This record gives sequence, C-alpha cells and structure tokens, in this order.
Amino acid sequence: MQFKHFIDGNFVASINGATFENRDPVDNSLIGTVSEASAADVDAAVKAAKQALSGPWGQMAQQQRIALLNKVADRINQRFEEFLAAECRDTGKPRSIASHIDIPRGAANFKAFSETLANHPTESFKLDTPDGAGALNYGHRSPKGVVAVISPWNLPLLLMTFKVGPALACGNTVVVKPSEETPATATLLGEVMNECGVPAGVYNVVHGFGPQSAGEFLTTHPLINAITFTGETRTGEVIMRAASVGLRNISMECGGKNPALIFADCDLDKAVEGTMRSAFVNCGQVCLGTERVYVERPVYDEFVARLKADVEKLKLGRPEDEEANFGPLVSLEHREKVHSYYKLAVEEGATVVTGGGIPDMGAEMNSGAWIEPTIWTDLADDARVIREEIFGPCCHIRPFDTEEEAIALANDTDYGLCAAVWTENSSRAVRVAEAMEVGLVWVNSWFLRDLRTAFGGAKQSGIGREGGVHGLEFYSELKNVCIKL
Ligand code: NAD
Repeated sequence: MQFKHFIDGNFVASINGATFENRDPVDNSLIGTVSEASAADVDAAVKAAKQALSGPWGQMAQQQRIALLNKVADRINQRFEEFLAAECRDTGKPRSIASHIDIPRGAANFKAFSETLANHPTESFKLDTPDGAGALNYGHRSPKGVVAVISPWNLPLLLMTFKVGPALACGNTVVVKPSEETPATATLLGEVMNECGVPAGVYNVVHGFGPQSAGEFLTTHPLINAITFTGETRTGEVIMRAASVGLRNISMECGGKNPALIFADCDLDKAVEGTMRSAFVNCGQVCLGTERVYVERPVYDEFVARLKADVEKLKLGRPEDEEANFGPLVSLEHREKVHSYYKLAVEEGATVVTGGGIPDMGAEMNSGAWIEPTIWTDLADDARVIREEIFGPCCHIRPFDTEEEAIALANDTDYGLCAAVWTENSSRAVRVAEAMEVGLVWVNSWFLRDLRTAFGGAKQSGIGREGGVHGLEFYSELKNVCIKL
C-alpha cells in the first residue's frame, strides 16, 4: 500500500520522492510506504489551505457548511468497514474496540460540532448613551484561517476529527499531520472529503515525522494561523516555541499520569470493572488512562486480588480474533519504552503482582510489539514509575487511610488531565472532585464522554479547552461590532 499526501484535493507523492515504512504492530510485517513531506510539500499544502479560504468554502453559508460536514459523517459510517480495517492495521487494536470507539466517534465529531455551532447564540448588548439613542453591540465570529492539526497515534481518527470537525464547522481550512505510526485513516478521509464535495484545499494531509520533518515544517510555517496539538507534553513545549513566532493561537492536549481513587464505600464490582478499562483498554495507550490507583485500606487487598484476577483473564490476540480484547502496543519503539519502565519498576523496588514481561505469542507474532498487562504495588511515591507517564498497559496500586491523604497523593504530580473517583457517598464525591487538580473528573465511571462538555488538562497536561462551545472559542475569531443608534 502507498499512503500519499492529500493536498488541494489530490493524492500526491513527495516532490523529492521520499518515503518511509509503515509496519503492522501485530507481527512487524510491512503494511506499505508513506510519503515523507519535505518543507516544499508542506508549503504546497498550507498555500492550498490559504487559497481555499477565499474560494467557494469562504463564501459558503454556515448552513451549507454544516450540511457538508454531516455528509462527511454519514460517508465515514457508510465506509465504516474500510476505516475500521485501516485503523486496526495501523494500531493493532482489537476490532471490538475500534468498532465501538474509534470509528463511530470519529464520524460523530463532524455532527456534534456542527450542531453546537448551529445552536450557538450570538452575544449582544445594548449600551445606554448620553443622547438617549444608545448603541448596539454584537459579536461576530469569523474563522481563524489555516489551522495546523498535529495528532497522535493512539486514537488516530477520533482525536484528529475532534479537531478537524470544529475547525471546519467554524469555516477554517486545515492541514493535518497525523502520527507517522498511523497514516491510514487521515488519508482515507481525503477520499471522503472529495466524495462529499468538500472544496479542494479545505482538508489537507501531510505525512512525516516531528523534528526537521512535516511536524516542524508545518508548525513553523508563517501562513499557519492556529495550531492544535495532541501528544506528549515535551513535544507540546517545542510546538509552543514555534507558535510564539507570529503569536499564533495554540490549543494543547498533552500527557497525563492519571489517578483513580477507590474509597471503601464504593461499589467494588463497578470500581474493579472501571479500573480494568481505565488502565488496560487500548493496551493502556489512552491519554485519560489510569496509571496510579489509590485504594482505601479496608478494601485494598480485595481490590488488588480482583484486579489481578481480571487482568489475567485478558485475551491477547490479533484485531480480527473475536475473542481477543487486548492487542499489541503501537510499535516496537514504543514497546521498548514501556518495557524499560517495567524493568525500572523492579529496580525501584516494586512488587510485580502480575505481568512485567514480554509474552510468548508464537513464532508468527513474536516479532510484533506485544507486552504483558502489568500491576505493581509497593513503590515509593517518588519512584519514576509513579511520576512519569508510561502510556502502556500498567498501573501501580497503593493503599491510603484518609480522604485528605488520597487527595494529596492524587494531586502529587506535574500532570493534571483527569481523575476517576469511586464512592457511593455523594458529598464525598463532590468534595473530592472539586479538590482534584485536573481538567476532567469521572465519578463512578470513566471515559463517559459528552461532546458538548469541556475537554482538556490542567498543569502540564495541556493549555485551553476544546469540546462544545469551548472548541468554537478556539476555532473562531470573535469580533465585537458596536453600532451607534
Ligand atoms: P508525540 O508528542 O510523540 O507525537 C504527537 C504528534 O506530534 C505526532 O504527529 C508527531 O509526529 C508530532 N511531533 C513530534 N515532534 C514534533 C515537533 N517537534 N514539531 C511538530 N510536530 C511534532 O505523541 P505520541 O507518542 O504520538 O502520542 C502519545 C502522547 O499523546 C502521550 O503523551 C499521551 O498522553 C498524549 N495524548 C494526549 C491526549 C489528550 O487529549 N490530552 C490524547 C491522546 C494522546
């Protein structure tokens, strides 16, 4: 297979012919080659996006734009199987996960943000003036311009469309740089844009890596008006520096080291089931995933034993294996990183409750990026494994004795993306939720998402909020018009 850039409505190879390999994480077999953008390719994509702002897209009424984006959502659903196959091939994730999360939510992003925009009121204020006639103020929203969308590999279509949906709804044009690990669904979306009649240049895709490659060329391009980024905090810092030149707008959704707080008064069945999902779904490669679990001492032993039993029931297998609910990590390189933390945990004094190694998947799959789901206990609070984001299928469980101690432990981190709180005491739920230094709290649930709500992180987990009207704030320029009556 060949994955080309999508520029100005056409699939094109790099001007200099450069490519890189895309490999299947299940067995490291070659999926295909991907065009690697040079600065000239990125320049062509950005200029096409700039040009499209003043073409038919720029003149289109909001209702027409919204109708087109609804068509895009419908077309993703019509080509569901192709998107599903492409996403599973790139990431190795089980079809059961991608068919319930990645693809349907990828499509939903185009509908939800169009609806939000359509129902968003225009602010207006009547000002009294000394002559008695007054003045009318009203807010007018226009697009920001060309938006650079830099996305990661863990939920490729979902996270990319979470940005592209509202950006296009607000009338911007976009140049997307998907992760080098997962080029497929962003490319396929180019076909859908053409099929639906989205004008050329509105949606563009350039492939490549970060530093001195497509990512850097895009974020430093002077015609980019805003940058929206999802990825690691350290990458976010580099992109912020690039955005500072010309004072471009940024939105950053970055890493996490998210806690789950399990109080003795919780429904333990639900807490165990919820923590299984929050720590191990998608092979632990979810920004909102739980890597630190704090359990009130009376239920600590039981919780550890039950989570261990459930983890040991996970069935590793290929995406198409209907019984499998646990796939490989995204790449051998990422497996190396996660495995290095498994070794570090032991060096730092952890008790390995389960897992900790690389599983024997049999000759065909042993070349893939497989790793065992892992639970640790007994690490000190300052261990690197407790403090650094691992982004793999692993968590550390530690007991606590009081609510104050649990809150202090949960907040003792540089990150602040989300927290899960498990308790049947509603007063405690509110108290603890309000004390969490994070952007999102789930009480007695996890990853229950309503696209109308604010999404983003505190501390080093991000800057700004997207989702619902918060996305519209970022993707549009609000102008106040004052008319003297
Ligand atoms: P990453 O930061 O390595 O890469 C993300 C994207 O940035 C990729 O497309 C990459 O090519 C690009 N990039 C890298 N260096 C760049 C540079 N110098 N200039 C421009 N672009 C550059 O992250 P990843 O490994 O793909 O994804 C995992 C990380 O993403 C984790 O830290 C995870 O927590 C985070 N994440 C956060 C959220 C959220 O909503 N907060 C969601 C998903 C993932």
